[in-house]
Order: sequence, then structure tokens, then C-alpha cells
Amino acid sequence: NSLIGVLAVQGDVREHARSLESLGAATRLVRRPEELDGLDGIVLPGGESTTMDKLLRAFDLRDPLRERLQAGLPAYGSCAGMILLADHVLDATADQQTLGGLDVTVRRNAFGRQVDSFEEDLSMPAVMGERTDPVRAVFIRAPWVESVGPDVQVLGTVTTGPAAGRIVAVQQNNLLATSFHPEVTGDHRIHEYFLRMAQR
Ligand code: GLN
Repeated sequence: NSLIGVLAVQGDVREHARSLESLGAATRLVRRPEELDGLDGIVLPGGESTTMDKLLRAFDLRDPLRERLQAGLPAYGSCAGMILLADHVLDATADQQTLGGLDVTVRRNAFGRQVDSFEEDLSMPAVMGERTDPVRAVFIRAPWVESVGPDVQVLGTVTTGPAAGRIVAVQQNNLLATSFHPEVTGDHRIHEYFLRMAQR
């Protein structure tokens, strides 16, 4: 039985904890460096990446968390969490930093020019498992992945509309990231996929 931390400085904390617990995982809300000890994985929720970055630094969590990620701690970042994991961010604020580790460039609020929030069905073969129905993805002022490095696996892309072809789910070794919010749909397959990463 895995113990999964949920970074709890801001954002969709409870919803992620609930999804993980419904799959049988134990969860711990993480606000202090000591709370990183003994975790099998950590979720970085959606919220506002600039605020989360400031709070990570204010709570002295940034450096210890970076070290854990580099040492191989499985992490799943959703939306703002994806931005936190990215090595490069377009349309970042002037002093915005990330944890990094994921060899991607993301663009903040990338879909905003079309529409703020929307839903899409995504075909994600690696994640869908036995079920063949698509993954329902909810995007809220979401980033997209503008480009990926050679070691990054693309798990999902938008298929229809003006953003067709845009990458919205990626994995590189211990790091998983989605532009969208699986914690609000009741479809737990992204969390299930992450728990399998955390069990390895
Ligand atoms: N637009 C937010 C940011 O830049 C992300 C939105 C979200 O996490 N729902 O951090």
C-alpha cells in the first residue's frame, strides 16, 4: 500500500487526496520538508504556478523537493503542477522558477486565446488499460507542452478543434504530467497509472 504525498501549499489538494484514497492509497498533505520523508510518490496539484512557486520557496520546500525528484521520487503534476515540473516555461512571470526535471517546454495559459476552460475526450492508450473508453480531460487555464526532449514519452494529445495536435500528457522516467485535471472527473485512470509508477 503506497503512501502518496499531495503538495498542499495551494490548489486542488483535497480532490487529489480523495482520488488517491479511493484507489486504496494512503495520502499525506505536504507543507514542510520533513513531510517528504518516506513517501512513495507525490502529487503536485493544479492551482496557480506562480503562487505555488513563491510558497514552495517561502516554506523551504523547493530545494528538498527538487532533490527528491532528482533522486527518483515519482511525481505527478497536473496543470500548474505540470508547469512546476517543466524545465522551461513560456509566458512565465519575470521571477517565476520551477522545480524542473521534465525535459519539456510548456506554455502557460496556452489555450486562453481560444477559451479559458473546456473538456475533451482523449485517447491515451498507455493510460486507458483494459477500458477502451477515452479519458475525459478538463482543462482550466491550462498549459500545453510546446516541445519535448528525446527522453520524454508523449501520453496524450488534443485531437479536435483549434488546438488539435497539442501535447497535454507526458512522462519522463519518474515524472508524469498532464495539462488537465483528472481529479475533478471521477475517472481515476491517471491516478491509477501514477500509483503503478509509485509501486515500482
Ligand atoms: N494558469 C495556471 C498557472 O499558470 C494553471 C491553471 C491550473 O492549474 N488550473 O499556474
